[in-house]
Parts: sequence; C-alpha cells; structure tokens
Amino acid sequence: MEEKTEKTYKFVIVGGGIAGVTCADQLSAQFPSDDVALITAGLHIKAVTNYKQLSRTLEEFDVEERPSSVLEEKFPNLTVIHSAVKALHTQSHSVQTEDGLVYGYDKLCICSGGRPKLLTRDNPYVLGIRDTDSAQELQKRLSKAKRIVVIGNGGIALELVYEVEGCEVIWAVKDKAIGNTFFDAGAAQFLIPSLDAGKPGRALPCKRPRYTTEEPAPGASQTFTADGSRRGRGSGPTEPGSALGPDWHEGVVLRGAEQVSRNVSVEYKCEVEKIYTSEELPTSPQQTPGSEDGPWPVYVQLTNGKTFGCDFVVSATGVVPNTEPFLAGNKFALADDGGLQVDDHMMTSEPDVYASGDVCTACWKHSALWQQMRLWTQARQMGWYAGRCMAAHTLSEPIELDFCFELFSHVTKFFNYKVVLLGKFNGQGLGLDQELLIRCTKGQEYVKVVLSGGRMVGAVLIGETDLEETFENLILNQMDLTPYGEELLNPNIDIEDYFD
Ligand code: FAD
Repeated sequence: MEEKTEKTYKFVIVGGGIAGVTCADQLSAQFPSDDVALITAGLHIKAVTNYKQLSRTLEEFDVEERPSSVLEEKFPNLTVIHSAVKALHTQSHSVQTEDGLVYGYDKLCICSGGRPKLLTRDNPYVLGIRDTDSAQELQKRLSKAKRIVVIGNGGIALELVYEVEGCEVIWAVKDKAIGNTFFDAGAAQFLIPSLDAGKPGRALPCKRPRYTTEEPAPGASQTFTADGSRRGRGSGPTEPGSALGPDWHEGVVLRGAEQVSRNVSVEYKCEVEKIYTSEELPTSPQQTPGSEDGPWPVYVQLTNGKTFGCDFVVSATGVVPNTEPFLAGNKFALADDGGLQVDDHMMTSEPDVYASGDVCTACWKHSALWQQMRLWTQARQMGWYAGRCMAAHTLSEPIELDFCFELFSHVTKFFNYKVVLLGKFNGQGLGLDQELLIRCTKGQEYVKVVLSGGRMVGAVLIGETDLEETFENLILNQMDLTPYGEELLNPNIDIEDYFD
C-alpha cells in the first residue's frame, strides 16, 4: 500500500544527539526560509553550550540535555519530530517513522549514533551504558551490589572503575595495560596508582565539558515502566536516547552496598569466556574469588581461567553504529566496523543521504595526523561539517574538507588528571618508524612525544603540563626537531618561549 507523505522538507536530520543537533542548527540558520526537520527517537535533544576554542584544533564545550522546544524557538523554520525512524526509502526520498508517518526530504543526514556493543543482549545481569536511562539503571542496581565485573578497556570502563565506591570491582581488560584505547603501557603505569588512592574530594574543579540533564519539557509525555525505566512517547520499546559523554557520572551516585572506598582489581589480557547464572555454574570451577563466597546472581568465566561471581556485569566494550532502520531496501556501503561509509563530503553511497557522528565511518583518505574515534568532539565537528556540505551542494558551491580533520586532538579527564591527546598519540599506523620521548613525574605529569623522521606526529599529555598549544604547533608545522633531541622534554627549558 502506498504510504501518504505527511510533508516534504528541504533537509531532514535523524537524531537528536550532538551530531544531529549541530547539523540541524547549521542548516536552519543558513536556510531560514526553507523547512528543516529533526526527527529523533529520544525525548530530549543535546545542545552544545559554552563552546571554547582552546587552540587551533583543541576545543571544549558543555553539553546540555534540553527540551526540543528550545531549538524550535531559536529557528522558526525547524520542526522537531519525536519518533524513531523505522524505514528509509532512498528512491522516493522519504523516511517512515514508528508512528506510521512518512516524511519526504531533498537531503537527509543520518545521525543516529550507536548503541553499546553488549556481550550478550538477552542476559538481565549484563548492562551497557549509553544514555540517561541506562546510567540510572546502573545507579539503581549498584546501590544493592557488593561486587561487579566490568568488561572493556575504553573511556567508559576507565571512568566507571575510578568512580565506583562501596562495591568491589573486578575489571577485565583484554590488553596488558589499562586504557589501551587512549594510552600506552607507560601512561597506564602512571595512572594505575590512582586506582588505589582515595577519591579526591568532590570540591575539585572539573575542567571538562559538563553534561547536565533537565526535567522533561512541560507537556512532554513521560511514563515509567514497571522496572522503573523511562519511556518516551508511544508504546514501543524503550527508544534509544543520545549518548552520554564526559562527566556522565556527575550527578549519578555510583555507590554500592558496602562501606568501603574504591576497591578495584584488574585482570589483564583476558576476555569473557562464558557467563553463567548460579544454576548453570559448573559444579567444580577452578577455585577463584567469587565461586567460593556465593551464591551470586551471575558468574563470569574469563579466558584466563578465573571465574568471578558478582551482582551484575557492565559491558563497556565499545559501540555498534545504529544503522539497522536505514538499511532494508537500500544499498549503503558499510565499513568493517558496521558504520555507514562517508566520503570527504560526509556523503554516504546513497544519493542525497549524508551521515555524521557515531553512526558513520570516515572513509576518505585521512590526513597523516588524524584518525576517527567515536568521541563527542568528533560528533560535533562532523555534524557541523555535514551541514556545511549539504548547504554547499544545495547551492552548487565548492567545499573543502574542514581543517578540524587535519589533526586529531582531544581533551578529557581520566582519574582526575587532565588528558590531552594529539595526532598519532599512540603511534597508530607508524610501526617501527617512530621514536618516543617520555617525561614522567609520579603523581604529577606524564608527557609522551611521538616522533617520526625527526618530526613530532603525536603526543600524550597527562596532568597540568601546559604544553598542548606548543606541541600542537610543532605537530602542525612538522618542523625538524632532530637538533633538539631529548632537550625537547627538558623540564628546565621553557619550551613555549623556546619555540615562540
Ligand atoms: P548520539 O549522541 O548517540 O545520538 C543519537 C541520536 O539518534 C539520539 O538522539 C537517538 O535518540 C537518535 N536515534 C537513534 N536511532 C534513531 C532512529 N531510528 N530514529 C530517530 N532517532 C534515532 N565522548 C567524549 O568525547 N568524551 C567522553 O568522555 C565520553 N564519554 C562517554 C561516556 C559514555 C557513558 C558514553 C555512552 C559515551 C561517551 N562518549 C564520550 C562518546 C560520545 O558521547 C559520543 O561519541 C557522541 O555523543 C555521539 O554523538 P552522536 O550525535 O553521533 O550520537
């Protein structure tokens, strides 16, 4: 049966996360007399506030969860539609939403983000963290927990194990060092004593993008399911909200049932072999912590042969791009990681369909100093650039790849240290063609420089080093640093003055 198109918009953007909102913002401002629609499954949208350009490529901003009315008030030509897209018809240039309506578009940008890559989808003792609802569920379950097992070695796992108190944490990482996504073993070694140290007082300033949540807008429907989780409009399954980000745990009490401070044990070089309920547990597993002091609701057998009983498992092993609703009947080229392939104009392989943020995979020939990582800053940059490309193509104007894709840069906080990552900070793709310079003062700072052919190609700065701008310049201008040798990291030389 032919579906009736509700309305055709010049631009339709799917997803109310950072990528989608930034893209919608860009297009609504540039085409004030054309209709723009933002279709999103969640109740709220994400807004970037207090944007600060710290250096040529480093940026910092706050992110607030807001009612969509804020966007509509700002742009009278923008309509926010709260419903999940369930089908895309690229031939007829239309999308169909869960509530059965069909919207036409001239150009579409898919910014549907990702969902946690769960170890298993149907085990109630395995949780992922993605949005506000899942963070609240974690908080609720944690308040009754004595031991949890955290699986994964990325940013979310790093933050979680550091924040949880009042509960024993077994942290299983597949690598030989913690934080492998961001650090080398040296940086991990620098950070690991923080896991044993007491938690610093809450009065410490937090210098990274802050995430805040607001109550739903008046009139926005919100119901609670029997298990306490929130549901958006409509009666479908819980709809995916946008991803949390830096400081997702601020305002979420991550405290277990015991009167103990942080208590983390790391299991290195292992993955999950099997997850058992107490009934399924083999009668004589190798005697390990966990199997003797049960029964526990769930048991995790690791590939290192150990089995741990626990209250629940947190699966923090990355994200899977949210592509499913868009694939049926279309011929999208997908990358190995499951993302929608996009070219240097953020265009997918389908005509007039763009994508940005966690859902896409950047498939253009990258600059030698940039790589894609599914991070908040890149979601904003891609959303912004996708909007500019859609505008340029509409106006038949040329557009060049934005400068932000020239150098990878990221500023964040781990274990209460400021962390700046620049370029090929882990020597990504350099093989043996790299030289490392390291300066480390225990408990204070860790500075690593990656050189290739005498030129700086990456850096990791942990602590208040104040080196980011100078190093960013040295990376961008590719100056030959061979004459300076190890002096480059001599703490007695004011390097900023030196290269000024
Ligand atoms: P999302 O924010 O996931 O937004 C996707 C949007 O699409 C949502 O609004 C959703 O409702 C909507 N949607 C999905 N499917 C549909 C559909 N079918 N129809 C309509 N709408 C749909 N990054 C950092 O840089 N630093 C950090 O410290 C950091 N910490 C993080 C901590 C946690 C717990 C998590 C989960 C992520 C963290 N990230 C961090 C990653 C960062 O949050 C994401 O990279 C970023 O938010 C991705 O933005 P996005 O707009 O692409 O997707």
